[in-house]
Amino acid sequence: MVRASEKNAAMTTTRELVAWSHQKKCEKAVQSLGKNGFAAVYCPSREEAVAYIVGEAADAASVGFGNSLSLADLGVADRLGKMGKELLMHVRPGLSPEERIAVMRRQLTCDLFLTGCNAVTLSGCLVNIDATGNRVASMSFGPKKVIVVAGRNKLVDGDVDAAIKRVKEWTAPPNARRLDCNTPCAVTGVCSECRSPDRICRITTIIERKPRLTDLRVLVVNEDLGL
Ligand code: SF4
Repeated sequence: MVRASEKNAAMTTTRELVAWSHQKKCEKAVQSLGKNGFAAVYCPSREEAVAYIVGEAADAASVGFGNSLSLADLGVADRLGKMGKELLMHVRPGLSPEERIAVMRRQLTCDLFLTGCNAVTLSGCLVNIDATGNRVASMSFGPKKVIVVAGRNKLVDGDVDAAIKRVKEWTAPPNARRLDCNTPCAVTGVCSECRSPDRICRITTIIERKPRLTDLRVLVVNEDLGL
């Protein structure tokens, strides 16, 4: 019998072993998402994720963006802009509040909507917490195609409560800080279930199965992306 240590003789570096552990976790998530009806794809690196998105965007005239750090990390907007796509990004500098809302409305009916995801359980559920709800609305129904990008740091080996806990601990406070919200967590880094008018945790969605009428793909990337 060949010992595991001999099989893994080529995996000499800690980095490789860590990547292998993450790969197994990513593959488990992809398998579970597939069982739940999503088209789930394992991407070993961000380059594969970008190539997938660029390929799927070929026949899209308009591309909507959730305000996602994962997508910013991929740098995919520049690529799509150079391809002549109309980019529907409501956080562009210089937009008036009315213009921002108009862009968010157009995202709901765009050809391709790209977004990150706050947490993905290993049982294959997508968990998100929004302030406005435009992102989670577009994820569920409206755009012709939706691609959700989830870095390995978004995977949760637990139930939906564990996923929500992850968002409240690791995503919402730094997001509140990024968005310059007047919330306690933007100062302390810790959620206090505030009653602030600036509270960003207003809408929690759990997508348990692929929405019936939405072509929703999930890319699980073996790299840390976003918060
Ligand atoms: S509930 Fe309030 S304090 Fe907690 S993470 Fe959300 S915005 Fe921050």
